Amino acid sequence: MKIRRAFYVITTLALITFTVVFSLRGEKKSERPKYMLVIHGGAGAIDANMPEEMKNRYYSSLRKALEIGEKILKSGGKSLDAVEAVVNFLEDDSLFNAGRGAVLNSEGYAQLDASIMDGKTLNAGAVAAVEHIKNPISAARVIMEKTNHVMITGAGAEKVAELNGLTLVDRAYFITSERTKSWNKANSKGTVGCVALDMEGNLAAATSTGGMTNKLVGRIGDSPIIGAGNYANNKTLAISATGKGEKFIKHNVAFRISALMEYKDMTLEEACNEVMFRHLEPNDGGVVAIDKNGNFALVFNTESMFRGVTGEGLTPEVKIWKTK
Ligand code: ASP
Repeated sequence: MKIRRAFYVITTLALITFTVVFSLRGEKKSERPKYMLVIHGGAGAIDANMPEEMKNRYYSSLRKALEIGEKILKSGGKSLDAVEAVVNFLEDDSLFNAGRGAVLNSEGYAQLDASIMDGKTLNAGAVAAVEHIKNPISAARVIMEKTNHVMITGAGAEKVAELNGLTLVDRAYFITSERTKSWNKANSKGTVGCVALDMEGNLAAATSTGGMTNKLVGRIGDSPIIGAGNYANNKTLAISATGKGEKFIKHNVAFRISALMEYKDMTLEEACNEVMFRHLEPNDGGVVAIDKNGNFALVFNTESMFRGVTGEGLTPEVKIWKTK
């Protein structure tokens, strides 16, 4: 009798366990895409009458950036590797205000800011006001992984970068003729950023910029400040911002959006809308973000934002203005 009862209990328990585990796995699968990647290349009043050829250069560069990131994520790579590789590509592309082609300060040279964050560990690294590092986002990663610090500025950051094998360049490397022409033109915003979710469920964010045109020497914007222009936390989201850095710093934009999700139970979209449209003002900028379930948001209060998204089950899409 006892044996028979034990048999029934064990079989029932096994069945319940099987059902629970099976349904959880099924649920998870439909809940979260395997991977997701979103990018931006800056926000502002981007001239809708720009020559077709120029538009196509932007579209194809954004598409290429998505391809680079997707390749890494699709083969099981880490979100941190994906965001770094994508931002490296955009830094090297002189179309954007990061790395080569970055805007120039009031004395006519580029000073670059960048940061990267790992949503799994909350580790972060940043460089600010660097003048000789070819790829500032990689220097940010070196600071995150090889030092006990989060942010290092100027010559100190350049020294760490050099010691870790990164390429240093002359100031002239960053100056392209297009940028020189636009020197003193006020509203150039073209920071680059990338956020990603990988197959392990880890989020990462990276942001890199030359800052604002004509800025004072030594000015640091929101991009290298964790919680202002960049943030990642597996509990909530990964987010990268672009726009008027001073506003993004004052409003703690990246962390505030995360906090609204964590403490007020807002969805990603609600939290982004709340901050971008209620705390900030029109023409301040935009954000791109992915939450822990793979939902994504591309929200801007400017006329336009260079942006793109791809992920499991999505056709890669790039846009500049509201609808195209
Ligand atoms: N947020 C950047 C800064 O203020 C500029 C930009 O996004 O274009 O440094």
